[in-house]
Amino acid sequence: MTTESKKEYQRQYRIAHAEELKKKQKEYRQIHAAEIRERNRNYMATHPDKKKTWGKNYYENHKEEVTQKHTEWRKANPDYSKNYYSVNKDEFLEKAKEYRLENIDKIKRREKEYRITHSEQRRALCKQYYATHVEQFREYRRNNIERIRDTKRKWNKANEEKCKIMDYNKLRKRRNRILDHYGRVCACCGEYHEEFLAIDHIEGGGNIHRKTVGGGGNVFYSWLLRNNFPNGYRILCHNCNESLGHYGYCPHQRNSIPK
Ligand SMILES: [Zn+2]
Ligand SMILES: [Zn+2]
Repeated sequence: MTTESKKEYQRQYRIAHAEELKKKQKEYRQIHAAEIRERNRNYMATHPDKKKTWGKNYYENHKEEVTQKHTEWRKANPDYSKNYYSVNKDEFLEKAKEYRLENIDKIKRREKEYRITHSEQRRALCKQYYATHVEQFREYRRNNIERIRDTKRKWNKANEEKCKIMDYNKLRKRRNRILDHYGRVCACCGEYHEEFLAIDHIEGGGNIHRKTVGGGGNVFYSWLLRNNFPNGYRILCHNCNESLGHYGYCPHQRNSIPK
């Protein structure tokens, strides 16, 4: 028998006895399971490259199965990951640091995207965190007051345009809250256009009072808010307010006793 015909004979035999051979192979595997496993392990240990490509190929071809098994295993061994992490914490942190350094651009870009797409959630989380840690925040502020002031000053200087917008928005917000409280209409003439309205000290002495609280505008607004909208203030339009200030009466109320 030539080599060729021998090979052909073997091939034919394998096809004709496929079922039988499969059974035998299975039996052999069962009987020698430990031995086979050991042999495989040795082979893998001495052929790391092959192990990697085989593992990759296997994963590519059995993705869903592998993922599912992995998930199941993790569910069945909930403490494993935790323990593994706590034992190898330093190594993990070191690796994370390395990864961050190597991929800093990618990470920063992703963080920025995340901040934009999750702004609502982020704000809610921050608020919640602040509410539960308010004492710590206050203490930190007390202990680092100079440092915080310094940082703020530097930031303000570097972001002048932004600051102007922020200050303006803050002023408008405060003014709106105050107008909402005291009423959005002149107590004398009924003027209701927001742009014309001013806050009037009913008993007069507005200028002196503004001096004692440290200024008008934003400072005065924040004083009103801090003191929880005190009595003795009302909304007048600038015309009525000026007239009362300079003449002691408003022409709209000529016949009534000026207040
Ligand atoms: Zn008026
Ligand atoms: Zn008036």
